[in-house]
Amino acid sequence: MTIEELEAVLCGLGEPKYRAGQVFDWIQRSGVTDYDQMTNIPKELRLKLYQKYDIFACTIEKKLISEYDNTVKYLFKLHDGSFIESVLMAYKYGYTLCVSTQVGCNMGCAFCASTLGGKERDLTAGEILGQIHAAQRDRGVRVSHVVLMGMGEPLDNFENVMRFLDLVASPRGLNIGMRNISLSTCGIVPRMDELAQRKLQLTLSVSLHAPNDAIRSRLMPVNRRWPVDAVLDACRRYIRLTGRRISFEYAMIRGVNDSDDCARELAARLKGMLCHVNLIPVNAVRERQFVRSDRSRLERFIRILEQRGINVTVRRSLGSDINASCGQLRRSHREEMEGG
Ligand code: SAH
Repeated sequence: MTIEELEAVLCGLGEPKYRAGQVFDWIQRSGVTDYDQMTNIPKELRLKLYQKYDIFACTIEKKLISEYDNTVKYLFKLHDGSFIESVLMAYKYGYTLCVSTQVGCNMGCAFCASTLGGKERDLTAGEILGQIHAAQRDRGVRVSHVVLMGMGEPLDNFENVMRFLDLVASPRGLNIGMRNISLSTCGIVPRMDELAQRKLQLTLSVSLHAPNDAIRSRLMPVNRRWPVDAVLDACRRYIRLTGRRISFEYAMIRGVNDSDDCARELAARLKGMLCHVNLIPVNAVRERQFVRSDRSRLERFIRILEQRGINVTVRRSLGSDINASCGQLRRSHREEMEGG
């Protein structure tokens, strides 16, 4: 709840308004999950709140720590028994948490493990925030950056994600500034426009993964609804309205989207746009046949883009020993539970 919503609740219980701020601080800043930890709230009020309102915490079902780089992968259990994943990464500038926005995903991207069982449900704003609190509590650190790049399509859960952004940036709460937040989408054009209207200072990442419709439609069913041109037009509108640079994600898949021709076509389509290309050597998923491009192919792809004036970087791979990419841990956990 926002402070205003909490005020309404507490005033309804006959409490003074300032109690709302106290409860907000406990939940949003301290991340407590138990009313008894709210030491400046009178006991009777704690009991009343406890009887009427649950604080749904994410509990750690499984935790894997990378031996290479201390990346931590969490499998969290929610109050209804659903599982979601988050990944905590340590960078020089602080800790970044990659959060999930849905249980599963409906987008059907051919290379992604999160979507294999479809979408079970959207996460609430509180459940997205809860992932940050749970990771902070577990590691005793402060998360300074958030990427909405875990399981799910954030723009397919628009209202809850907007509410999350509002709460996470609240100076009285986690106080994570929009400039430290990235939101990744597979390209849901009307929602990209709606997001642009809000003029947030976050970084919009767009999962492009191919320079043309023939390849992109094979990899991403969403492309049949909003093809490459429509997505790139939406990106141009987004840049115009927000003044922010777009970041394109491009998973490098051997023999599928990594040819010289693909690089040239990509450069031609992005020419003159305020953007950045982030190449991700595709992560092998057991159920999928895709293989990552080799080093020399990657380097050649980069050279072609750079020669044409496109900003390009390669995403550093963290936690590769702990199944750290989208949806893999949840799947293997489920198979274990089902004995599959
Ligand atoms: N639904 C959103 C955000 C979640 S996925 C989106 O599509 O953007 C975050 C990024 O990881 C996306 O760019 C997605 O395409 C990519 N991704 C998913 N599975 C991958 C895999 N096996 N290897 C590399 N990148 C992958």
